[in-house]
Amino acid sequence: MTATSLIERIAAAVGPQGLITDVRDLEPYVVDWRGMHRGTTPAVVRPASTEQVAAVMKICAETRTPVVPQGGNTGMCGASVPSAGGGEIVLSLARMNRVLGVDALDNTLSVEAGCVLANIQQAAAAADRLFPLSLGAEGSCQIGGNLSTNAGGVNVLRYGNTRDLVLGLEVVLPDGEIWNGLRGLRKDNTGYDLKHLFIGAEGTLGIITKAVLKLFPQPKAVATAWLAVPHPQAALELLALLRQRCGERITAFELISRNCLDLVLRHIPGTRDPLTAAHDWYVLTEVADSSADNALREDLEQALATAMENSLVTDAAVPESRAQAQALWRMRESIPEAARAEPGMVYRHDIAVAVSQVPSFIRDAGAALEQRFPGAHVICFGHLGDGNLHYNAYIHGRQRSDNAARDAHDVAETVYDIVQRYRGSFSAEHGIGLYKVEELRRYKSAVEVGLMRAVKHALDPHNLMNPGKVL
Ligand code: FAD
Ligand code: ZN
Repeated sequence: MTATSLIERIAAAVGPQGLITDVRDLEPYVVDWRGMHRGTTPAVVRPASTEQVAAVMKICAETRTPVVPQGGNTGMCGASVPSAGGGEIVLSLARMNRVLGVDALDNTLSVEAGCVLANIQQAAAAADRLFPLSLGAEGSCQIGGNLSTNAGGVNVLRYGNTRDLVLGLEVVLPDGEIWNGLRGLRKDNTGYDLKHLFIGAEGTLGIITKAVLKLFPQPKAVATAWLAVPHPQAALELLALLRQRCGERITAFELISRNCLDLVLRHIPGTRDPLTAAHDWYVLTEVADSSADNALREDLEQALATAMENSLVTDAAVPESRAQAQALWRMRESIPEAARAEPGMVYRHDIAVAVSQVPSFIRDAGAALEQRFPGAHVICFGHLGDGNLHYNAYIHGRQRSDNAARDAHDVAETVYDIVQRYRGSFSAEHGIGLYKVEELRRYKSAVEVGLMRAVKHALDPHNLMNPGKVL
């Protein structure tokens, strides 16, 4: 089939509004958020319903046309864009952006996959409920992308990853069949739990079109603190102390190194240092309770007073208002943006080790990088409460414009070999995509990779779904 007749058939399935072929209009769909990968595509297809997705997938299966599903295109590993010469069409879920319903008794919310995360949070709040997934990209990432990457974010400590927030899915399979697994059940042990195959699959097994999500009580009291800590070990001990005093009310516990804060102050307008003096490390923590009349803030302040007596905390800013707390969160959430604005090549690593081993990992990885790349400069931040760090390195003399520097795996190898020694994960949040395919082969066992290939082959025998990604 010629490219023209393929496009004509797809156009007939989705209508003129559902198709983009003009080269200038294709641009935002073919470059990834980090600006590291640019692909090409004959067309971006924007279906408006599950039935249209199914019709497009049938045409693609028949014509053996590969497909890249795309949500908000905020992914960090190049999984959401087509390859440089692969001829994949991009299937964008952006028009399927309706909240289908909130059930306050079941505590569920049903959505189409193209719903922007922030709109889902708002729909839950309007029903006096919480949808707890929260991340820096929430204003543009879509729930289909969150599901497909099993996104984490800042509330995992209390509520889990995206995987833990889902009850049911609807998926269009590579052959165009629709699997309706849109059940809102809390319990269901009727065989393999198929939804979990598609969650975190990065668009390689099918297209998620709808989801039933879990809701939680809306917090009525929230207290936030920005704390200076002398070193990561003190942060870890502080977490243990807070757990004792505040229990499961801790929703976030983020570690931030001083040079992250410096980057934010340099590149993000309207930000200022929350404390008067500079410190090497910070913790941004939040506690929340669904009852308004409890002593949440007092509990937090008393715990912090103990932490100060024990030299775990050396200075603190405890905001008086929600706006002040949001300004602190903006500092934390702007770190990726600030890192992107910094000149020089940034090597990003999104790793996890056991929570208790985070301080020694930071020490060992820093020493190994310095030994192999003298003058290496690390910016380290992340979800200490989950043992997950964004551990990013700038290597002296390597510029972003230099392709060789971009493609070098030597920095990643230095960091991931240590992660491996700790029995950790070389990709705790962002996935494999295009950028970590080599690492998957290097660090996962043959048995694990073999099982993954078997699943891929069973669902997508012609390798049409996001080819070249993950496996
Ligand atoms: P996309 O980037 O469009 O796609 C991601 C993957 O999902 C691709 O493989 C794509 O093919 C697939 N996909 C998308 N939609 C579908 C669908 N409907 N069906 C099947 N496959 C689909 N991530 C975290 O985990 N935690 C963070 O704290 C975090 N912070 C971030 C902060 C910033 C500033 C930015 C830019 C990104 C951050 N990310 C974070 C990464 C990113 O936001 C998440 O991976 C997000 O879940 C991606 O959603 P998206 O809609 O943009 O997906
Ligand atoms: Zn993160």
